[in-house]
Amino acid sequence: MNDVMEMLYLSGNDVLPGEPMARWTSLGIGGKVKALVLPHSDRSLLDAIQILREAGEKFRIMGMGTNLLVSDEGIDEFVINTSRITGVCINGDLIVADAGLPLKRLCHIVSSAGLSGLEELYGIPGSVGGAVFMNAGAYGKEVKDVLEWVELYDGGKLEKVDVKDLGLGYRKSGVGDRIILRAAFRLKKEDPEKVWAKMEEILQKRLSKQPVFERSAGSLFKRPRPDFYVGSTIEKLGLKGFRVGDIMISEKHAGFMVNKGNGSFKDAIRLIEKVKRTVKKAHGVELETEVIIWK
Ligand SMILES: Cc1cc2nc3c(=O)[nH]c(=O)nc-3n(C[C@H](O)[C@H](O)[C@H](O)COP(=O)(O)OP(=O)(O)OC[C@H]3O[C@@H](n4cnc5c(N)ncnc54)[C@H](O)[C@@H]3O)c2cc1C
Repeated sequence: MNDVMEMLYLSGNDVLPGEPMARWTSLGIGGKVKALVLPHSDRSLLDAIQILREAGEKFRIMGMGTNLLVSDEGIDEFVINTSRITGVCINGDLIVADAGLPLKRLCHIVSSAGLSGLEELYGIPGSVGGAVFMNAGAYGKEVKDVLEWVELYDGGKLEKVDVKDLGLGYRKSGVGDRIILRAAFRLKKEDPEKVWAKMEEILQKRLSKQPVFERSAGSLFKRPRPDFYVGSTIEKLGLKGFRVGDIMISEKHAGFMVNKGNGSFKDAIRLIEKVKRTVKKAHGVELETEVIIWK
């Protein structure tokens, strides 16, 4: 394995052997991985994938870890983190952003350029790649509404895939095991001040409703149907503030699960199961986590 680490390093990646995922996830939970690999460009990312595949090593890909719940026991695999690949290019009203660029940073860049379309997505933490993979959305807008194409790598070839062929739906995509390298968004010309004003309004809404200063991974569950509000359902069932160890249903928004300090993976799973059982019993509805669980 040391040879693999050396090859990864020599191809321009930063390599952190035995890195705990708790340091790289917004929930602050997660044990050690074989190594966290941080490419600084497409080139080192593609080299890393080739090296790992040829060595028969398993790996996963992550952006900013804001939608992940990772086992305390860690993962006996490599994890490639895209957060240092952050290039961006504007061509008229088309903006092409690298997978690791924070979505928030992208919103700042387009607002300064006088481009409108991403305002509602402002404040969603995470990277462009994570936002595409999850088809992230808020306040009536989803990534798929403004995305034009993405560049994907399947381990063999690079391909440019049109948004209509990506299988984007409510918090899901058909990206599968492929890796998103960059994404192109088609926006509209607008007065930068108007774009910025709308973005400020959106942040204000988030601040008033969400536990933005606590450790969470966003909405814990997907809405099972458009008219079923998970947060208010959980609240009405008396589970707001429900706690297992240091893991709690947020007192500010019952759709969020927060880590109050030393929360563990096991406690998070226990809390998730308890909420699912209670909702199933009361409403006959099977909740599915929006948060992605890595174990
Ligand atoms: C306070 C808070 C508020 C939030 N609000 C919202 C919200 O309003 N709307 C919303 O939709 N989400 C929200 N989220 C959830 C989260 O921010 C989004 O899902 C975000 O898009 C995840 O991006 P990420 O880079 O952190 O992805 P990660 O958590 O790192 O990864 C998520 C998934 O994407 C995959 N992935 C990441 N990058 C790539 C890539 N380059 N290629 C292939 N697969 C990749 C990973 O393998 C994983 O399966 C919120 C989270 C928090 C903490």
